[in-house]
Amino acid sequence: WAKSSGKNRLVAYAEGMSAAAQDKASLRDDLGRALAEGQFEVFYQATVDYRRQTEDCGPAGQAARAKGYEALLRWRHPERGMVSPLDFVPLAEASGEILAIGAWVLRTATHQAAAWTAERGYPVGIAVNLSAVQLANDDVLTVVRDALRDSGLRPSQLTLEVTESVLVGDLEAVSARLAQLRAAGVLVAIDDFGTGYSSLSYLRRLPVDTVKIDRSFVSDLSLGGSATLLVASIIELARSLGLDVVAEGVETEQQAEVLRELSCTYAQGYLYAKPQPAQEVRAELPGELPVDVPAMVAEPSTL
Ligand code: C2E
Ligand code: MG
Ligand code: MG
Ligand code: MG
Repeated sequence: WAKSSGKNRLVAYAEGMSAAAQDKASLRDDLGRALAEGQFEVFYQATVDYRRQTEDCGPAGQAARAKGYEALLRWRHPERGMVSPLDFVPLAEASGEILAIGAWVLRTATHQAAAWTAERGYPVGIAVNLSAVQLANDDVLTVVRDALRDSGLRPSQLTLEVTESVLVGDLEAVSARLAQLRAAGVLVAIDDFGTGYSSLSYLRRLPVDTVKIDRSFVSDLSLGGSATLLVASIIELARSLGLDVVAEGVETEQQAEVLRELSCTYAQGYLYAKPQPAQEVRAELPGELPVDVPAMVAEPSTL
């Protein structure tokens, strides 16, 4: 037995457990307290609209091109510092804690977007990642509706992102669930598109609004060749189905150039903005939206 980092909990460290396994067990143990102890935080990363031109390449110029913001969960661990969601979300999914954590992210992000909207006087869009475990849970519709009602955010300002990997399960059930969520007025995006085993042909049958092209394809764009062809065909198909396309992980001007050439409408990446704490986003939000550009959130009638 070893005393864990926390107050009075004990973690069983099996004899001969590897250091990595011990580390994971202690992280799993700490995760159980993180929500109650207020260790989670939400960062926000802008998605820019290529149709909006900007002379100002700095943060304010990019904020003026924002279509909206993606909420990205952060865990400020008392001893380890920032732990990546890639390291703890799978643990939270396995334990079921992702349900409570995910509901907290939804509440936090919808309240934040509603506050920015009230402050600035134009609708600020927000995207929240939904785990496959949340999507499969029968309470998800209630959780989403409650977050909208309590925050006062319009449903059309909220996009739920589900990774392409959720589609490997029961496609019928997933489609039905996504349709229910859209019937509540929220938008749905397929995240990390192109990585899973689902093919372009799935898109046709899915009730979604947006496709987010995975970073791995975007990072290969500068090299030209097959990645460029794949991205071009995703954009083309999405357009023919009336879907929005967001390119993820744009880091270089060269990638941006190729994307604009392919008529990609939206992009997200370090080139434009990193995920930032809410107060930093607030400081950069434009005072008002430029009038000659599309609104931050489409009116329901045009969806
Ligand atoms: P994602 O939803 O695909 O989010 C995009 C990830 O790419 C984020 O990583 C973001 O910080 C990172 N990113 C953005 N632009 C760039 C870029 O230009 N270059 C590079 N190298 N990376 C970039 P992050 O925040 O570490 O999140 C990782 C994943 O964890 C997310 O991928 C998402 O799947 C999951 N995640 C994050 N927050 C939540 C949450 O609240 N709930 C659930 N269920 N999953 C979450
Ligand atoms: Mg996402
Ligand atoms: Mg993604
Ligand atoms: Mg991704």
